[in-house]
Parts: sequence; structure tokens; C-alpha cells
Amino acid sequence: MISQQVEKGLYKTAVALPVGFILANVTETMLVYDAHTSRKPEIENSITQDYPTEIQEVETFWGYRFKTVPTLRFELTSQERDYAGQGKLTLGMHHFGQDEIYIASGVIPSLEDSLLEKIELWFVDSLEPKTVLRHELTHSLVDQIGDGVNCGIGSGEKRDHIIQEGIATYAEIALGSTQREIHCQNPLPETIEELGDYNDGYCFVKTLLDLNRIQGMVYLLCRPASEKDILQPEKYYADFRRDNEMRQ
Ligand SMILES: [Zn+2]
Repeated sequence: MISQQVEKGLYKTAVALPVGFILANVTETMLVYDAHTSRKPEIENSITQDYPTEIQEVETFWGYRFKTVPTLRFELTSQERDYAGQGKLTLGMHHFGQDEIYIASGVIPSLEDSLLEKIELWFVDSLEPKTVLRHELTHSLVDQIGDGVNCGIGSGEKRDHIIQEGIATYAEIALGSTQREIHCQNPLPETIEELGDYNDGYCFVKTLLDLNRIQGMVYLLCRPASEKDILQPEKYYADFRRDNEMRQ
């Protein structure tokens, strides 16, 4: 899933400028929605048009093909809205074990009660839709690969999220669709709760994936890291290096 705290970014602007001005100003680079419009066809069309190319990019990157190409959806079910939680702008979502992904195309209903209910943004001119697509497609592909090799990471625990989101974030960044720079924590904190799923997940998986992307991903699936491995990864990395050398 890709979520981001929407308040943070908008708050900065909202403090300095009256809302009317924000609306007038941002339309050049972003599309702005009101809470009564739930979807935007022009965004859906452009995402749908890009979809086959993005699938190929992700397949080439990971060296595997989708067994089933995930169906694109542009609406959150009510269950997903609950899951996404209040105050979060959910841009994309993939459910493990299901061959479908959700990509936001308009209003994000979880903000209904917020002060910002009339301001819903999708950064059309940025690379964000591609980033979200590649992220969610990676989740889906990794899920299908896991099935294929009879391995898999769970989805319920913090360490599972760190690995899943780490792999998806790695694809986003390596495929060059995001401007994000990630600074890895060093030294690592003492408890897993102090790690972020996305950034710290990326930092954890990067060592393996940089060395051998395809084998590294399969290793992450088939030899799921424990909490201890994530907090003190040297042994996990060393085991992978040995395993990887033996295959060459
Ligand atoms: Zn994700």
C-alpha cells in the first residue's frame, strides 16, 4: 500500500495562504477535486493507457512474468477505506492473495471529516501515478512469485510489512520514478517498532537486491527475516552472500 499523511504537506501551504488561493494556484500543476466528485476519468484513462507498459517494466525489472495480470480498480471498497484509516491519503493498494490493485483517481473518501475535505489532490504532472503503479504491481508480482516457489512473506506482522514495503519501495526507486532520497538509519534502533515500513524496509532489502535482484527477492521470500535479522542484519546478509556465490 502507498499511503501518505496528507495533512503534513498541505498544512504548510494552508497556513500561509487562504484556501481560495491554493485552489487557484495549484490547478496549473495538479488537479483539484471537491468531495462530491469521486473519480476522474482523465486520470483513469492515462493510468489505463500506461498499464501494459508499466507491467512490462515491472516484469523486466524482477525477471518474472505475471501469471495473472492484476485487474486495475479505481475505487476503494468500504472495507479498504476502514483499513486505510482516517487522515491518510491512500494512493494505491494491493491485497495479498488477490490479483487486483487499487489506484486512486480522485477523491479519497477517508478525509471526509477533515478540515481539508474539499481539497483532494492527485499530482498528475508529477511521476506519482507511475510510482504508485510500480509499487503496487511489485506487491502483486512478488505475491504471485511467492506462490510459484511455495514461499512467501506473511502480511500480519511488522517485520512482514518492512520486507514487503521495502521490496516495493526498492522497485519504485530503482525504476527511477521517484525523486525520493532515502537516508538509512545507522546505527539501527533497538526495537522493530522504531523502524518505518517503507524507508527502513528499503534500507534492509537493498543490500540483497543490489547484489542480485532476482535471487535476492526470492531469498527474502523463502528465508523470511526475523525481527532480529532486520535489526542486526549482518548475519542474514552474510548467509545470502554465501548462498548467492554458490549459485554462480
Ligand atoms: Zn506498499
